[in-house]
Amino acid sequence: MKPQRCNDYSKRVKYNNTLYDKTIIIDPGHGGKDPGALAKIGGQDEKVLVLDIAKRLRTKLKEKGARVIMSRNSDRFVKLDDRARLADRYNADLLVSIHIDSHKNPQVKGATCYIARKSLRKSREVAESIDCCLNSNLINCKGVRRADFRVLIGHSKPAVLVECGYITNIVDDMNLNNSTYRDKIAESIATAIAKSL
Ligand SMILES: [Zn+2]
Repeated sequence: MKPQRCNDYSKRVKYNNTLYDKTIIIDPGHGGKDPGALAKIGGQDEKVLVLDIAKRLRTKLKEKGARVIMSRNSDRFVKLDDRARLADRYNADLLVSIHIDSHKNPQVKGATCYIARKSLRKSREVAESIDCCLNSNLINCKGVRRADFRVLIGHSKPAVLVECGYITNIVDDMNLNNSTYRDKIAESIATAIAKSL
């Protein structure tokens, strides 16, 4: 086979966003006795919303061929260290943790991607890709920030934590309580992972 055809093939694989050889840990934040950010009037707590986004993300990543492990599938409490440990135990290519923010200032809004201060290059590439895909799907993402959250540093694998918006902002909260919007978040994250992993 001519090299040119090999190149074409690799482009096609890239285009199809295949994740057939990848293992991804999805970590929906909080759960059980830990509700995370508390719901505003009429809405759902963080732990409920992030589990829903995580399940949608699992479906989409599996459709792209990835092997997916969830740190929790239901409303139960899991210790941070146990969540982080999954990345090494399953020799994961990526751990992606899903959260929703809160802030004392109700004007603060938008999604944010976090990576560890001394992150692997792959973590940064995936985080930048998620930021880009969210914004191109008209979900406001404020870029990539660095913070040493336990799920980002408690293992040796690439890891990203996505704060999907602010429960304390009226527009973000309304959007996050809409299943179509949550599906768009999951779709953006899945596309971004397939492009960058
Ligand atoms: Zn959280």
